[in-house]
Amino acid sequence: MKEELLKKELVHISHKVYNRRLTQATGGNISVRVPDREAILIKRSGISLGEVTKEDALLLSMDGDVVEGYGTPSKEFRFHLGIYRTRPDVQAIVHCHPNYAIGFASLGMELPLPTVTAQKILGYVPVAEAAPSGSKELANYVTEVFEKYPNIKAALMKDHGICAIGQSLEAAYNIATLVEDTAKQAFIKMQIQAALSQMNKREVMQ
Ligand code: 13P
Ligand code: ZN
Repeated sequence: MKEELLKKELVHISHKVYNRRLTQATGGNISVRVPDREAILIKRSGISLGEVTKEDALLLSMDGDVVEGYGTPSKEFRFHLGIYRTRPDVQAIVHCHPNYAIGFASLGMELPLPTVTAQKILGYVPVAEAAPSGSKELANYVTEVFEKYPNIKAALMKDHGICAIGQSLEAAYNIATLVEDTAKQAFIKMQIQAALSQMNKREVMQ
């Protein structure tokens, strides 16, 4: 029964991620631990988060085998399992491709935190090295970041996206939205700073 509720929640959060434009096309994947079973529910590979149904939530053992459901699990199942293994506190993971956060991630930058809210809730958002989607190398880079910084709630993924974690799917989703909105605010701040410095330069030259 618990599993049915978690499937329903996985569908609900998948749609919220897509509708809030935190990802595009078939990008992104979501998972949640199933209590009392050494297993997680994870999205099927290749399906848009906007189109996910309960049948797309596959039950995966901690060894990566599909235990219930049909189809191929998300190609990023390795970093989902890696994070669950290194962080027993984590109950849910949202991986998505949000535009502003990717802007910083593509430069290999940590997420700037211009607000007290982001500083308090996120604390520090490092960036994991780039590697091809679905590769073991990428899974290692992402897992290593969560191992190295055991208190982080999110990481940027170079040239790719973000990974947000939480005590529930809703909590991980909220972290993902905070990461993206923080990236947007940081970008606006940088634009204003650049405009002001241009204006100052012109004043000096006049
Ligand atoms: P999947 O459709 O296999 O979950 O892949 C989407 C993605 O975001 C890969 O990084
Ligand atoms: Zn991805």
